[in-house]
Amino acid sequence: MPRVGVLAVQGDFLEHRQALRRLGIDAPEIRLPKQLDEIDGLIIPGGESTTIAQLIDIYGFRDVLRQKAREGMAIWGTCAGMIVVADRLTDRRPEPLRLMDIEVSRNAFGRQVDSFEADIDFQEIEGEPFHCVFIRAPVVNRVGESVKVLAALDDGRPIAVRQGRMLATAFHPELTDDSRIHDLFVRMVEERD
Ligand code: GLN
Repeated sequence: MPRVGVLAVQGDFLEHRQALRRLGIDAPEIRLPKQLDEIDGLIIPGGESTTIAQLIDIYGFRDVLRQKAREGMAIWGTCAGMIVVADRLTDRRPEPLRLMDIEVSRNAFGRQVDSFEADIDFQEIEGEPFHCVFIRAPVVNRVGESVKVLAALDDGRPIAVRQGRMLATAFHPELTDDSRIHDLFVRMVEERD
């Protein structure tokens, strides 16, 4: 069974675990850095990115996570998780982990469209467009050369990106019944060379 865990310091980690359970995977809740030795892939969920980043530091995850990413651990950040894995933010806080070569803006959709849903074409998954749920979502402003855009808004701004074994989505696939992006991530975890 692919060894996928969900960072469980804050945010909607339970929903990710449920989505993985639909794929037959019992994903542990990762609460301490030493648990990272037991997994090959980690999901950093949505929630509140300044809180998640603070707890990452308080529990001593920062250096270990950066080291694990260098060693090839697959990592997927959703929403607040996308903010946490970014290299650069247009916001002053939080201090991101600098894992993916992307620049991200928090709360990119203003008050009136704090939350919205849209069907968007998504590379690397089969079938119809993905129903994306955005909740006070971030957006990607810039991507580095080694980053592939998997999905973008009509105005061209990316909302899903992949760089090697790292994935980031601005929306919440764990809040829908569609497991195709979880399935993509599990395949990324299994692709370990
Ligand atoms: N707006 C939140 C933040 O900046 C992210 C929202 C979410 O994860 N749904 O941390």
